[in-house]
Amino acid sequence: MTRYIFITGGVVSSLGKGLASAALGAALQARGYSVRLRKLDPYINVDPGTMSPYQHGEVYVTDDGAESDLDLGHYERFTGVSARQSDNITTGRVYSEVIAKERRGDYLGATVQVIPHITDAIKNFVVSHEGDEDFMLIEIGGTVGDIESLPFLEAIRQLGNELGPRRAMYIHLTLLPYIPTAGELKTKPTQHSVKELLQVGIKADLLLCRADRDIPEGERRKIALFCNVSKDAVIPALDVPSIYQVPISYHEQGMDAQVLRHFGMDAPAPDLSRWRDVVERVTKPEGEVAIAIVGKYVELLDAYKSLAEALTHGGIANSVKVRMEWIDAEIFEEDDQSVIHHLEDMHGILVPGGFGERGTEGKIKAVQFAREHNIPYFGICLGMQMAVIEAARNTAGIHGAGSTELGEPKEPVVGLMTEWAREGDLQKRSAGGDLGGTMRLGAYDCALQPGTRARAIYGADTISERHRHRYEVNTAYKGRLEAAGLVFSGMSPDGVLPEIVEWPDHPWFVAVQFHPELKSRPFEPHPLFVSFIEAAVHQARLV
Ligand code: GLN
Repeated sequence: MTRYIFITGGVVSSLGKGLASAALGAALQARGYSVRLRKLDPYINVDPGTMSPYQHGEVYVTDDGAESDLDLGHYERFTGVSARQSDNITTGRVYSEVIAKERRGDYLGATVQVIPHITDAIKNFVVSHEGDEDFMLIEIGGTVGDIESLPFLEAIRQLGNELGPRRAMYIHLTLLPYIPTAGELKTKPTQHSVKELLQVGIKADLLLCRADRDIPEGERRKIALFCNVSKDAVIPALDVPSIYQVPISYHEQGMDAQVLRHFGMDAPAPDLSRWRDVVERVTKPEGEVAIAIVGKYVELLDAYKSLAEALTHGGIANSVKVRMEWIDAEIFEEDDQSVIHHLEDMHGILVPGGFGERGTEGKIKAVQFAREHNIPYFGICLGMQMAVIEAARNTAGIHGAGSTELGEPKEPVVGLMTEWAREGDLQKRSAGGDLGGTMRLGAYDCALQPGTRARAIYGADTISERHRHRYEVNTAYKGRLEAAGLVFSGMSPDGVLPEIVEWPDHPWFVAVQFHPELKSRPFEPHPLFVSFIEAAVHQARLV
């Protein structure tokens, strides 16, 4: 029997609802239960694929090719359960389904309305493909009180009523702000937020209260009294030094016990030893390496969420702290001195994924610096395309090399991908087509060439990695690049799409067309990140 836990947020946004949901999932897993997490997003975009990273942060890609919310990355990293297309829905997707059904005539005769048609569609999403998980954790995006989340709240209210309290639970995440002049944590915003939920018919069963300091007993009692929950169901969620501490901290505050009590379940104490081990390694590193990330959306770290996590995992595997220096590639475009100034002391340079022209010439300069100065270089997606353009211009004599994404280069070394194979089907695209959901998305196999660094790092002949790109390295130039010494160490199994390039005779220079950061987990750090950080450790002469 699957139980449903609905997680809403109140008071302010950015309280870390995704992380809280993921950590609760992990704590329940540590008790021996199976879990799946889902996210309901109230915005009208069908998926976040066409949104700017400044609006939405990273777009997380699943194996089955969904462009989804970055919280799904937290879910995967914390629970190890691979997310699917069906684990993230938006208002836009719900409405497009309902409208398509209406056009087909499925509701013939009926007036199609938010209640019941939209709410029914939401409920179907929530309970579909339920499998036999013990717990489904459903996170509702946005903050209670927003107009656009109302249909989602109404849908989960109905579900709670249909499933009954033994199969449904509501958790509300709030904030207790500290007011220095009063010297107190304030509970009023939480009381209001709980009331706001009550107005739409949802009674919170457990309150998870973010605070920057201990919540005194008296305040917990007060929250319990005003918010109609038991004192034990007021769980402090205090700031912790590492996100991997959160499942441990929730357990210590009694959260998992409280959830099980709600459902009338009993389970042995959780085994959190692997979490303790990770926290120990994160908080007590044996050294530090500095990695420059030369990108575009560097003011907003959520834009590179999985990347930062994967680098941290690489650090955990090598027992070092990874100091990340986020550098806006544009600053390299004007001034060569700034390249030297920012990069010469780095132990590794990484150019991540990205879109559009801004900063690309700066990224190419960063690649050149890493190649010529023997600093470990890791290129991801756009970072691979930049590495190939750099190789073409500066080693293969293809001076007009560029990408058709960035203009009309004389030599289109990177060009629009017009067709590729997916599970036997030929996918076709043309310039001027729709931009939403039309990239090469999701898991594709890649064949590794014997004798290459990539083959040695993975220890396998074929790998599967997640993709999200519209452009590809143009194989018409492969021969000339190989003649210059660039090695194509990974290709799509049909030999058509370049997936990995590397420079031999360099301490570590690997660039990949896919996004390995999406599959890295704290307990299973991605081999490319482990190897890259190991190279950085050598660069820093820590061994
Ligand atoms: N903009 C490039 C492309 O579409 C790279 C995409 C990426 O880095 N995710 O191919």
